[in-house]
Amino acid sequence: MKNLEQLFEHQLKDLFSAENQLLDALSKMADKATDSNLKKAFEDHLEETKVQKKRIEEICKEFNLSPSGEKCKAMEGLIKEAQDFMEEVEDEDVLNAGLIAEAQRVEHYEISGYGTAIRYAKELGHKDVAKKLQETLDEEYAADNKLNKLAESRLNKSAMA
Ligand code: ZN
Ligand code: FE
Ligand code: FE
Ligand code: FE
Repeated sequence: MKNLEQLFEHQLKDLFSAENQLLDALSKMADKATDSNLKKAFEDHLEETKVQKKRIEEICKEFNLSPSGEKCKAMEGLIKEAQDFMEEVEDEDVLNAGLIAEAQRVEHYEISGYGTAIRYAKELGHKDVAKKLQETLDEEYAADNKLNKLAESRLNKSAMA
């Protein structure tokens, strides 16, 4: 990588890989969650994730760039961690609380990735692209907030019982 444009492209591919890996992971987490609100939150965010993946595809098309070819190893690790947790956990309330914790790690990772990509897009003068990425960033923040509320409301409390 020699310039910011190439670094930006690398970030786009990394985010594409992250979203792509999440499609599978979020559907597994939705299956596993036994709290109906949490299940719904995962299902809703899975639908948003499909759109987010599409947004990156559209952006890459504008730049004549293939979105694939890069594996986000950080997301791979976060998903592996969530999978290990799902296999190990025995209590239902602890399962739901832990799923929130794993999912929030994922959202925070995405938030930092999109924040960076938006900054680069603006710096490079790609205003419309920055706007499109901002739509996704807003969704990631909203997903994180929803998880926060679920955690605060009762899930974590019942895990202590
Ligand atoms: Zn990378
Ligand atoms: Fe996402
Ligand atoms: Fe990554
Ligand atoms: Fe997300």
